[in-house]
Amino acid sequence: MTERFDLVVAGGGPSGSAAAWQAAQTGAKVVVLDKAVFPRDKPCGDGLTARAVSYLQKMGLAHEVSQFHRVNKVTVFSPSQWELSFPKRPGMPDHGHTVSRTELDTLLLKHAESAGAVVRQGCEVAGPELDERGRVIGVVLKSGEKVFGDAVIAADGAYSPIKRALKLDSEYNGYSAIAIRSEMDANRPDSDSLDIYLKLAFQGDQLPGYGWVFPMGGGRFNIGLGYVNSYKNWQSINATQFLGEFLRTLPAEWELPPIEELKKNKSVRAWRLPMGFTAWPPWRPGVLFTGDSLGAGKPASGAGISKALESGLAAGECAIAALENGGPDDFTNYAQRMEAAWGREYKRGRYFHKLLGYPQLANAGIKLIDNARFRDAMLKALYKKAQGPQHRY
Ligand SMILES: Cc1cc2nc3c(=O)[nH]c(=O)nc-3n(C[C@H](O)[C@H](O)[C@H](O)COP(=O)(O)OP(=O)(O)OC[C@H]3O[C@@H](n4cnc5c(N)ncnc54)[C@H](O)[C@@H]3O)c2cc1C
Repeated sequence: MTERFDLVVAGGGPSGSAAAWQAAQTGAKVVVLDKAVFPRDKPCGDGLTARAVSYLQKMGLAHEVSQFHRVNKVTVFSPSQWELSFPKRPGMPDHGHTVSRTELDTLLLKHAESAGAVVRQGCEVAGPELDERGRVIGVVLKSGEKVFGDAVIAADGAYSPIKRALKLDSEYNGYSAIAIRSEMDANRPDSDSLDIYLKLAFQGDQLPGYGWVFPMGGGRFNIGLGYVNSYKNWQSINATQFLGEFLRTLPAEWELPPIEELKKNKSVRAWRLPMGFTAWPPWRPGVLFTGDSLGAGKPASGAGISKALESGLAAGECAIAALENGGPDDFTNYAQRMEAAWGREYKRGRYFHKLLGYPQLANAGIKLIDNARFRDAMLKALYKKAQGPQHRY
């Protein structure tokens, strides 16, 4: 007999594990299906913002997180060098961390499992299973097996097969970034700073994006770059070659390996990063979208882990609440939650995403940020806003 679940979660990254953990807390029967076998890598800058740290703490992982490499500030090169501390916000730590995704995602998946979720690894979802009215009632695996649930959470990442199979349209579709990273040793001291490099030029154009150097501890660094797809020539950029050029702009005394060597050890990997709600509304009858499959990444900045956790926790809670209140045909409660959390900010972010695509505007923006008086006024306003009321969770 086919086993039925209250909730089927496709994808066991941060958003899927958070959703499964949240739903399993209520005693619901939850299964997480992931095509990978953990520990598995995921291309990422490996940076946890203070907000991401706060969600992990609230999920009961404070001790584990405290063992990750700690970062206390952001250093921006615009090209002049200046520092930002993490703002003191109510209910949130004043620092971030870095951790490899291999470690973080394995920890989160195990956490969901220990809350009671069934975890099936090496289990690739081919698409949704629909009833005669077109409502999602489960998923079909690549093996042909079907897994049924009262609700499905599509946490299957940037290339979501569930979203593609449903031909999901959204007025905000198409906002995304391409990002590439590699991890390497560097001949420099460990640091407690996330370093951001704003000057990224392609064929003389200022790109809408940035490079980063994030310390992982133990002499290891995650170095990468990303740019949004509003720049008209973004498809002409060879991301690997571009990363090689970025590495050559960093101090020679760090003795960074050349890109050819990094390619050989397979640590160079690029990935898409959807942002600004590429699936909106974030649900269809029977299914809710979270994390990258929702396009939960913050427009322009690309911070995605905290958004994956927040949307996952909200989807887990809203799915169970909707099932208890009458059924899986209406997850408006989830759309309302996401809209209240980020609706206004993402609307602004989508404009910003478009504007930055014009190299002259991107260049003018960087010149402004590089101006100390403008920057001080901007930071003062941002820090003031950060003291305001926070989202729930
Ligand atoms: C290069 C790069 C750097 C980044 N740096 C940062 C950073 O420093 N900080 C930050 O906050 N964000 C960063 N991000 C964004 C962040 O990585 C993502 O937003 C985040 O991983 C989204 O989590 P998720 O759970 O939605 O998806 P994912 O982490 O992609 O997890 C999706 C899961 O679904 C599984 N899956 C996929 N297809 C199937 C299928 N068919 N069947 C079953 N399972 C499937 C995958 O195996 C995976 O485990 C970066 C992104 C990129 C590309």
